[in-house]
Amino acid sequence: MKLKIFILSFSFIILSNSINAQSDLHIPREIQSAYEKQTRSKDGKPGEKYWQNEVNYKIDVAVTPSTRLIDGKEVVEFTNNSPDDLSEVVIRLYYDVFKKGNARSIQVNEKDIGEGTIIKSVIVEGVKYELSDRKQIRRIGTNMSILLAEPLKTGKKITLQFEWQQKVPLTLRRTGAVDETSFFIGYWYPQVAVYDDIFGWDKIDYTFTTEFYNNLSSFDVNITAPDNFLVWATGTLQNSADILPTSIHKKYLKAQSSKDVINIVTPEELKNLKLKSGTWNYKAKEVTDFAFAMSDHYLWDAAVEKVKENNVLINTAFPVQEIEKYKEVTHIQQKIIKHFTYDVPGVPYPYPQFTTFIGLKNRGSGMEFPMMANNGGPGKPLTIHELFHSYFPMYVRINERRFAWMDEGWADFIEILTMHKFFNDKKEDHSFYSKFKLGVQRKIGSISSLPAVTSTVYTTDNYGYQAYSLPSFTYALLYQHLGEKKFLKCLKTYIERWAKKSPTPYDFFYTFENVSGEDLSFFWNSWYFKMGYPDLKIESFDEGNLIVKRIGERPVPISLKVAYDSINKKSLQNYSSILGADIWKNNNRTHTIKIPNFKKVESIVINSDFPDFNESDNFYPPLSYRYKKLNLDTTILGSYKLEKFPITLILTKKEGVLMFDLLNTGINSFLLPIDKNSFTSIDGTMTLKIIKEKEEKNKIELYLSSYDITLNGIKK
Ligand SMILES: [Zn+2]
Repeated sequence: MKLKIFILSFSFIILSNSINAQSDLHIPREIQSAYEKQTRSKDGKPGEKYWQNEVNYKIDVAVTPSTRLIDGKEVVEFTNNSPDDLSEVVIRLYYDVFKKGNARSIQVNEKDIGEGTIIKSVIVEGVKYELSDRKQIRRIGTNMSILLAEPLKTGKKITLQFEWQQKVPLTLRRTGAVDETSFFIGYWYPQVAVYDDIFGWDKIDYTFTTEFYNNLSSFDVNITAPDNFLVWATGTLQNSADILPTSIHKKYLKAQSSKDVINIVTPEELKNLKLKSGTWNYKAKEVTDFAFAMSDHYLWDAAVEKVKENNVLINTAFPVQEIEKYKEVTHIQQKIIKHFTYDVPGVPYPYPQFTTFIGLKNRGSGMEFPMMANNGGPGKPLTIHELFHSYFPMYVRINERRFAWMDEGWADFIEILTMHKFFNDKKEDHSFYSKFKLGVQRKIGSISSLPAVTSTVYTTDNYGYQAYSLPSFTYALLYQHLGEKKFLKCLKTYIERWAKKSPTPYDFFYTFENVSGEDLSFFWNSWYFKMGYPDLKIESFDEGNLIVKRIGERPVPISLKVAYDSINKKSLQNYSSILGADIWKNNNRTHTIKIPNFKKVESIVINSDFPDFNESDNFYPPLSYRYKKLNLDTTILGSYKLEKFPITLILTKKEGVLMFDLLNTGINSFLLPIDKNSFTSIDGTMTLKIIKEKEEKNKIELYLSSYDITLNGIKK
């Protein structure tokens, strides 16, 4: 069968093409007040009076693997650049999430629940504070407020000192033990919270759900580790000559200018390692956080990638047992950094180093930190995703605690785009857009499918949808509408304008309008500010005129696949194209498309690769016709119990069409018949086989390609 393919662009009401194009959006009062105070500007740039505070850390920390104790001493300089006098300084103690009685959004190992962070001393400007005096120190959730004797005046600096102890948790969530002698330590030191022009002090409790919103800082950290432990961290190692044995140090130096991967620590070296207990000094400038990892049985590969004039050192640290699996990861990171710098988004990778540490057990999971990631596998999509977080929320300091969609959505989108453009052979647009479908389809039209602008603070079980699936799809729609060149210009400008600063959602909206010169309100309003869902249907197909009707409020392109009469296919040319057309302009409800060679059309399907509320009416001839010919055995209908998972699959017939539903997962689809006993979902990512054996109950095999798993089930 040959396919004729078009994707017609969804469109916006384009009121003006001038550079000052700006939409009329609902603006909450916190943001309005920022415009009044000129800390933000309505062209999407930082305002003339934009300010942010500065925090610099000097930390000495020792980790004792046998007891898992972390002992720390810290000196913090905090400069108040805000126009306000501050009567308190808010300190985040992330390890208090393990404190008995504190709120947690995940279940942790019982042994981890205890005292959280044991603060031994707090000194403010040389004066010791009384830990139990509520007039001086208050601890609520994971925050510790220090109530100052004298307010910290605008423009003034204050020095704080802390001494503390805590235990590396067995539960590895952003921080914790990988195994008995490997640790990943993040979210670990008393950290000054952000005080900004929109929300004042950020006092959101850390419960494991949301991640970064930190100050721009410098770090000078001394990490003391026992014999034979290697340490990787944010920043650059300052005392490599003192700490590394000569043979390893030689290779470490060689890697600083080597495009070829250098095996700095090999299995041989690990066996004969003579590393004395010592203190590793790492320094980092203009980063938002500091993390480190240590192990006595990890290998270390490194190489550089040239970013403009600088060599960026790329490291991979991975368990010696898995050498085969991870030997390509350094090279993959080189390629990613090159594409980030020169292609997508086209902004030079902003740091002197990046290290991927392999410390998570779940395949495909990862956790980003400035200049580091802790990953659970060698996969390219995962490596791209975590590395892209270098831009959001690190380089551009996204307030992820309130707007996780402003960084997770981008990381997902860039992951899919980078895979599509630079790592996949299949360059066809349908396959690119279809990658966003399942995530949106799972919640489409549900009560928890909220406007995309919604603050993460108000999400619960829809966190994944609101932070990842929905925003990444809206970025894909923007990409489709603006075209790659204009889209990348907007994204690049947005990153450059807000580098090291912290944008609000409106700085994103207005930058894209300002740079593209388009009023994008039709798009922002329908996807970001109103409830709704995308839903198109084939209204009719007559004499070559295909009438597509828009039922849902959220606009999507029309993606069209036309199959011609297979007998006469020789006479028809195969092609695919993307046609930009203002199809939903002026709030149109229908759009007519002329289908060429219409007399030979066998079937038409629209938007099989885009989310669609009701997919059953996207077919010509109607889907039910295919079932009429099929003479379906109705004994296959009913409930199936899946092996290994406590999930029920229901097969039903709706409007003459077979449909499956994985109960309570949000995964369901009408099915296209391949033959009497095998079917595929409309987007083609799931296949269902019915297995019939004499005298036995029907069995099913469901393959989900997005997760690469096969689920087996038996009829109840
Ligand atoms: Zn992420």
